[in-house]
Amino acid sequence: MTEVTDLDVVVVGAGFGGIGLGVELLRVGITRFLILEKASELGGVWRDNTYPGCACDVPSHLYSFSFAPYTDSTIRYPDRRDIQEYLRSTAIKCGLQRHLRLNTPVTAASFGEDGRWLVTTSTGDRYTAGSLVWTVGQLHRPHIPALAGRELFQGRAFHSARWDHTVSITGRNIAVIGTGSSAAQMVPHLARDAAKVTVFQRTPAWVLPKPARRFGPVARWVLEHIPAMHAIYRKAIYYGADLVLSPVMTAGWTAHPARWVARAHLRLSVPDPQLRARLTPRYRIGEKRIVLDNDFYRALCRPNVELVTEPITELTSSGLRCADSRLHPADVIVFATGFRASEFLAPIEVRGRDGVLLSQQWAKGASAFYGLAVPGFPSMWMLAGPNSFSASGSNPTIKEFQARYVVRGIQQSMRLGAAIEVSPSAMHSYQQWMDDAMAGTIWPTGVDSWYKTASGKVTNPWPATNRAFDRMTKHHPATDFEPVTAADTSCTGAA
Ligand SMILES: Cc1cc2nc3c(=O)[nH]c(=O)nc-3n(C[C@H](O)[C@H](O)[C@H](O)COP(=O)(O)OP(=O)(O)OC[C@H]3O[C@@H](n4cnc5c(N)ncnc54)[C@H](O)[C@@H]3O)c2cc1C
Repeated sequence: MTEVTDLDVVVVGAGFGGIGLGVELLRVGITRFLILEKASELGGVWRDNTYPGCACDVPSHLYSFSFAPYTDSTIRYPDRRDIQEYLRSTAIKCGLQRHLRLNTPVTAASFGEDGRWLVTTSTGDRYTAGSLVWTVGQLHRPHIPALAGRELFQGRAFHSARWDHTVSITGRNIAVIGTGSSAAQMVPHLARDAAKVTVFQRTPAWVLPKPARRFGPVARWVLEHIPAMHAIYRKAIYYGADLVLSPVMTAGWTAHPARWVARAHLRLSVPDPQLRARLTPRYRIGEKRIVLDNDFYRALCRPNVELVTEPITELTSSGLRCADSRLHPADVIVFATGFRASEFLAPIEVRGRDGVLLSQQWAKGASAFYGLAVPGFPSMWMLAGPNSFSASGSNPTIKEFQARYVVRGIQQSMRLGAAIEVSPSAMHSYQQWMDDAMAGTIWPTGVDSWYKTASGKVTNPWPATNRAFDRMTKHHPATDFEPVTAADTSCTGAA
């Protein structure tokens, strides 16, 4: 049996969430913690998504931590390499390297009678800690649809987040399944080198034009010569996104201009009316994640690109067959089919008080207090948990708000010398607020998307502005959390 490492805090995952949380722990003087990361490098989604054209939809000045401002005056929208480099250098600058344990996949965690968490890894290493923080993200487990004949296909097939760089694209027939953000970003790049790219669409995306990746000379001059400008620009996009994009989720006033702009973008980019009709969404803008892109539509007009809207019925040894019986030959299939987003924390086995399994508690769809705490799971915290994905702003910003709250909770638990748990009344009033807020959005009645479970419960997005998240999580957790006594934890296994 391997040794058990005893800590104050175990953090699982080293993407934006794990790094932000680690820095906040160090800021308040908590140093007995480790960040366990299953991969051989930090970075999360920006390490995993290496498909051609992978980039961020949020300007870099906002898609960054407030404590590590982005001061590059040339790049407006970062690509995955910029972000990966930003995360790497932030971790080094903030002294997180010695807290990182790479190649350490966590497989299970259980809350013991001693009021501490035992964390088990597939390497055999075990850790105990008073507090456990999951920062495993929402979009890290690829979703690949179950297609008949998958085993028959003789070419290469992989998910967009597991790009196989040994496969050559040049001169080959590439099939891309999906038309979300990843597909929109990769298709223009693939189309340049491939003999043919066939794009399989189930539901057309709403696509808005994206400002240029680089700043023009005037903006650059302003950013370089007025030092406060970086901070002002960051604030402007933060408030701007809340003002303009957030009302879209409630079909508010800005949904109309956003729809007009998207329609105009489609009209200007796609001259063929038949192709345009097939690319026109028949649902409200915002029901699925909006795509920001300038090149996707134009790429679909190239002679070597075909859009297929017939449903795929099966894979054969040489390609994909659709409902109209037509076979589309392919050498390579790329699944740009998203992630298992509503299966939070899966496949990790998490047991809370009384041995309760988190997956069972969440069987009808996950929920958590501000996406960060769950009743029955004392001193277990999450960043990017249920209903805390910002559909209209920057996700690192939400994670910073969550990290601030979680670290205060950890301090409270350390002060009390006991695990703490969200009180039933706090959870009840939060859930009531959440249900009301969610009912006012377009998601419950909207089309299927990764925002909801197969049964229709909206589990992923936050139904209000980023400013609301900031305001609602500013108070001290002592108001909402109670210490867990020995009597609460001494009946493990009881019904
Ligand atoms: C292609 C793509 C583009 C995106 N673009 C945007 C955008 O433009 N704007 C925006 O706001 N958001 C965007 N997102 C959302 C993005 O997920 C968040 O913005 C953010 O980067 C997530 O950070 P995270 O730390 O929560 O999760 P992740 O980045 O997913 O990091 C989680 C980490 O946990 C590790 N981990 C998971 N399970 C275990 C385990 N069992 N044991 C140990 N380690 C584990 C993973 O390896 C990973 O390193 C995008 C996501 C993707 C996939």
